[in-house]
Amino acid sequence: MKAIVVAHHGDVDGLEMRDVETPQPKGRQVLVRVHACGVCRRDILVRKSPSRPGLANPLILGHEIAGTVEAVGIDARGFKVGDRVVSTQREYVCGCCNMCRTDREALCADHRFLGQEAMGGNAEFVNVMDDNLARLPANISFEAGSIVGCPVGTSYNAVIDTGAVRPGESVLLTGMGGLGIHAVQIARTCGAFVIAATRSPDKVKALEELGADKVVVATDGRFARGVREATGGRGVDVAIDTVGSAVFHEIRRSVTLGGRIVLVGEVTGQLIEMDMAMIYRRALTIRSATSTSRRQLEAALKLVENGSIKPMVERTMPLADTAIAHRMVEDNAVTGRIVLVP
Ligand SMILES: [Zn+2]
Ligand SMILES: [Zn+2]
Repeated sequence: MKAIVVAHHGDVDGLEMRDVETPQPKGRQVLVRVHACGVCRRDILVRKSPSRPGLANPLILGHEIAGTVEAVGIDARGFKVGDRVVSTQREYVCGCCNMCRTDREALCADHRFLGQEAMGGNAEFVNVMDDNLARLPANISFEAGSIVGCPVGTSYNAVIDTGAVRPGESVLLTGMGGLGIHAVQIARTCGAFVIAATRSPDKVKALEELGADKVVVATDGRFARGVREATGGRGVDVAIDTVGSAVFHEIRRSVTLGGRIVLVGEVTGQLIEMDMAMIYRRALTIRSATSTSRRQLEAALKLVENGSIKPMVERTMPLADTAIAHRMVEDNAVTGRIVLVP
């Protein structure tokens, strides 16, 4: 089969189209013919980071996969040839540890991530264990379906499960990239008052169309004042932040007494100084959301199927153009996802 292999770590030059052996499904594996695979910042991070023990060999990136079942291993359950499927971000989880049994299999110590410890979807075929796949409803395209497991599902986790947003609450979303633009839509489905913060005046109309009741534009990144004004001086009940340390103090100032802050990303990795009294005196709670469980993926797929959420695919590109796609993501040339089509 054709695949894009990380021949050496570092620059995009390390990505090479190669003929590699088509995997055969054994045991509970399901062989998926890839119809679409989203390009994630995580792919770029893995490509750029030095090689390390435990990575798949050959290393094929891509964990946001949609396709059809091509063949099933002898013990695979729940899927047959021809089924439309979408991956969780993982190829394998143990299924029996405390994390796996409490809807947090992303934290399973034994998990293998697609495009890292297991070969990923930047290829014509990929092997995935049966319990790391979900059915893709007939009315969702492969391109849209491919990104439900990562940006849509992680936003679902952050807003619904970790943020526990309730009807009538006010919610602030920051960082209007892949996660933020889906988090706005999901917060909308909760019946919350949705505030989106952005540096870019160009994004206001699109964010309103996605469901933001109020868009706070702060070109200098200092959105807290605007957020407080939008909530009558009170501040929001919940802030879902996909930016991290660069905006943490603005987030803290935007949240009301007893409010919740959900961290879903760290863009700059800088250190911050903080008087901890600013957190505990105001009884703030800080939570984190990473990744998507299979249940969250299935729940997010339902919201897409019934039209409540639209996965934001900005463009599709052929698999051969993976390097170009990586460069566009690195240059922040796209807001929605780029999806590769083998
Ligand atoms: Zn991803
Ligand atoms: Zn486990």
